[in-house]
Amino acid sequence: MKKIVIVGGGIIGFCTAWYCRQAGHEVVLLERGSPQRDCCSLGNAGLIVPSHIVPLAAPGMVSMGFKMMWNPESPFYIKPRISAELFDWGIKFVRACNPEHVKRAAPLLRDLNFASKRLFEEFAVLPGMDFGFVKKGCLNLCKTEARLHEEAELAEFSRGLGMPAEVLSADEVRRLDPGVDMNILGAVFFPEDAHLSPSRFMAQLTDRVADAGVEIRWQTEVIDWTRDGDRIHAARTNSGEVAGDEFVVAGGSWSPRLIRKLGVRLPLQAGKGYSLTVEKPVQLPQLSYIFTEARLAVTPMLGALRFGGTMEIAGLDLSVNPARVRGIANSAGHYFPAFPPETFAGIPAWRGLRPCSPDGLPYIGRAKAVQNLWVGTGHAMMGLSLGPITGQVIAQMLSGDRPTIDVTLLDPDRYEV
Ligand SMILES: Cc1cc2nc3c(=O)[nH]c(=O)nc-3n(C[C@H](O)[C@H](O)[C@H](O)COP(=O)(O)OP(=O)(O)OC[C@H]3O[C@@H](n4cnc5c(N)ncnc54)[C@H](O)[C@@H]3O)c2cc1C
Repeated sequence: MKKIVIVGGGIIGFCTAWYCRQAGHEVVLLERGSPQRDCCSLGNAGLIVPSHIVPLAAPGMVSMGFKMMWNPESPFYIKPRISAELFDWGIKFVRACNPEHVKRAAPLLRDLNFASKRLFEEFAVLPGMDFGFVKKGCLNLCKTEARLHEEAELAEFSRGLGMPAEVLSADEVRRLDPGVDMNILGAVFFPEDAHLSPSRFMAQLTDRVADAGVEIRWQTEVIDWTRDGDRIHAARTNSGEVAGDEFVVAGGSWSPRLIRKLGVRLPLQAGKGYSLTVEKPVQLPQLSYIFTEARLAVTPMLGALRFGGTMEIAGLDLSVNPARVRGIANSAGHYFPAFPPETFAGIPAWRGLRPCSPDGLPYIGRAKAVQNLWVGTGHAMMGLSLGPITGQVIAQMLSGDRPTIDVTLLDPDRYEV
């Protein structure tokens, strides 16, 4: 049995704590916020997406991003600023946007996603866990011929990798979810996808983790480390040192800051996104959706309806940009006419920072420069979906076991020269 110190109380930190405890270790989780904190893992769109086998860094992303940059309401924006890290991240992102990278990454993302969904299924039957888990699939809605054509190509690529995907006409979509009016041309249906309430899952997981004997220290911020040669001896926090055998950094978008102090460099940018939750929607879809042209996810959540999207690369800035929020409110009604912009008047915008690696793949594994430092971050738009498998794989590796899935491609040192 080892003493494991986990930094960060988002989905990655809590799932890692769960699986490390299940493996018999003594576990302490350090979270700088209070139990009522906000973090990216709480207000996201709640999609569990085996279908997301194409990483964010893919052919066509650079030109699409460049076109969207100039519209203040568009779902993508990079805030121009003088930053060596942003420049370096941008170069690495552009290099990763090629078909070979997608070919290499897609089978791994598929395996991780399927395994993680199975772990959600295990959580769903634990006592006290009821987090609105619905396994009915997700529909990628399209309004234009060009987009439907692209989605149909994605469906074919997905099927080639064993991921069921079906191209549907607008009428077929309406028959699948008759309770909602839609103004669309067609869709691709991914029946393996699912959805849940992330805040409820996190609250219940926190209780289960505490019941299992993990020590959770709230309002405990890691500010530095005490080293003993090439090993960490303790995490230095605002309330004293916490010693351990193994240390896992799961600090989301703040992870690079934390491990830079150990001489480890992790290329990562925060990708800010927003969500708007309509508590009493006039129509409640039964499935989850992605409005593909608008890049908006729409999820029914315990009777409410959440609209989430945008990707703003603007540093660790948590302020709300009203133009982007307006962009979400304005695009909803183009697909679901029962949700015109007025629907969203007075609804507070939630925002969160997705931890984005330049190649769109998470960082999972040990950072070689420090013997007992483990990293779990960089999941970008898939952190909820991949939370359980990330926690399980880290727990397996730090216990000295072979991980159930080979995660060599996710090595946190992959950009080290
Ligand atoms: C609008 C939006 C929609 C999304 N929709 C989906 C979706 O549908 N499906 C999906 O799979 N993913 C989705 N995501 C992505 C997903 O939410 C993230 O990938 C995921 O939550 C990241 O989890 P995390 O644990 O790495 O980070 P976080 O949730 O950010 O947690 C990190 C934690 O570390 C703590 N921390 C940081 N530094 C320190 C320190 N020094 N000491 C102590 N604690 C520290 C922070 O306080 C925080 O609580 C969405 C994201 C957004 C913004």
